[in-house]
Amino acid sequence: MTAHSEGVDRFVMDGFPRNVALAAALDQIADVVLAVQLSMRRDVLIEKCLGRRKCIHCEKTFNIRDVREPATPEGLPEQCMGHLAVRPDDAEADIERRLAAYEAMALPVIRFYQAAPLQSTKGAKAEALATGA
Ligand SMILES: [Zn+2]
Repeated sequence: MTAHSEGVDRFVMDGFPRNVALAAALDQIADVVLAVQLSMRRDVLIEKCLGRRKCIHCEKTFNIRDVREPATPEGLPEQCMGHLAVRPDDAEADIERRLAAYEAMALPVIRFYQAAPLQSTKGAKAEALATGA
């Protein structure tokens, strides 16, 4: 799909733009009406990253800090018990390094949208989306 697909005038992009150059390029080809940045407390984020596991048999991924179905009453699928491995890059020092790299990349994009807060014609469209008009 492109921004100019027939009959499509609104779409959601997840994880994009990743840098200011991409944000500026996107701005040239599309009317960005809303930019959302989801955040989480850093300590909670690190704790969740430290809880990631992958079953070495079925390759399903889990988070032992937030295990969901299918699960035993203890919280993990029976067939995966005893086969969960930690990703090599999920050590706390690696997580800190990845977060620092993400923040270095994301902060300029956040500032890009804060500096040009979709207020002119784009702001009007954002309001129209919010009201359903
Ligand atoms: Zn498994």
